[in-house]
Amino acid sequence: MLNNNIQMVDLKGQYSKIKEQIDSAIMNVVNSTTFVKGAEGEAFQKELANYLGVKHVIPCGNGTDALQIALMALGLKPGDEVITTDFTFAATVEVISLLNLIPVFVDVDRESFNIDVEEIKKSITPKTKAIIPVHLFGQCANMEEIMEIAKENKLYVIEDAAQGIGAEYTFSNGGKKKAGTIGDIGTTSFFPSKNLGCYGDGGALFTNNDKLAERLNAIVNHGMSKKYYHDEIGVNSRLDEIQAAVLRVKLPCLDEYNEARKKVATYYNDAFEETEGLETPIVDDKSTHVYHQYTLKTKSIDRDKLIAFLKVRGIPVMVYYPIPLHQQKAYIRTEFKNENYPITMELCKSVISLPMHTELDENQLKYIIESVNEYFIK
Ligand SMILES: *Cc1c(COP(=O)(O)O)cnc(C)c1O
Repeated sequence: MLNNNIQMVDLKGQYSKIKEQIDSAIMNVVNSTTFVKGAEGEAFQKELANYLGVKHVIPCGNGTDALQIALMALGLKPGDEVITTDFTFAATVEVISLLNLIPVFVDVDRESFNIDVEEIKKSITPKTKAIIPVHLFGQCANMEEIMEIAKENKLYVIEDAAQGIGAEYTFSNGGKKKAGTIGDIGTTSFFPSKNLGCYGDGGALFTNNDKLAERLNAIVNHGMSKKYYHDEIGVNSRLDEIQAAVLRVKLPCLDEYNEARKKVATYYNDAFEETEGLETPIVDDKSTHVYHQYTLKTKSIDRDKLIAFLKVRGIPVMVYYPIPLHQQKAYIRTEFKNENYPITMELCKSVISLPMHTELDENQLKYIIESVNEYFIK
């Protein structure tokens, strides 16, 4: 049986369920002809702040801008070092480098895929000013320890929650906080395929710090504190009204969407737990998992053959991420030694992400599971 309907992400299926609300939200904006800086953006800002339990939400143009704006607001100087993970999407290192800051990569924890706190400690120098943990694939990094390290060493923490929106972190005192609201600044992306995606580009910053919020609000709008008074160099990075209107429809569905993703993950976990040659992802006891991706580790098999086998059966799979950041041409430096990143190197060679979205039905899941199993028993 060839099932052609399986996609990595099914935005069409999701849209069809909320079509009426989305269409009318978009048409309302068109009819208002307020396309930038209006009531939708303002309302979304408040609704998201309320959902996250954070004091300030500052919308912006995309998740990459959000990271850049966060670094700008902290007033870092060229040559300052920023510690981040070697195993993630390139946006983080891109903005660090654009601002003439020095990216310092550290290896990750093999089980959680997230930045390794022991490696952070080893990488701190007098020039270190900030840490950017990424809540990779939808699960929070070890924020309690990261915040402790930051406090001891007077470092800022910017959480990249582009893949983790809605995930919840539990501290050892029982306190709970949402991903992106723990560090000095949190950032996210509303790229269409993210857990909370708009219908174009979008992003946001979060903070509980009033002073930082003021700076962030100025920077996203040309560094203006007051119209036509430019107190510092800013950028033009805004969430437009159509995107805000779409997000206002989707935000109330976010928990339900994340729950649907979790169901898919449970289905996969149950199916592959015993499969020789596959290692299912673990769930950290400190963080919920919102499964932006469902990522397996392959063991002693030819990953390319498995990918090709599944492709023939109409099952798309992806490798997030095939190349460690320290080996990317744009960022390569002689001091980056492969032997400092053994886990990232191993993961880049062994991980595989299966279709993950809110619309996967039982038949599709059965088909995916049967096909994967077929590869292993053939
Ligand atoms: C998607 C993503 C970004 C970038 O977001 P854009 O909106 O595409 O700029 C940054 N960091 C991580 C971890 C991401 O997954």
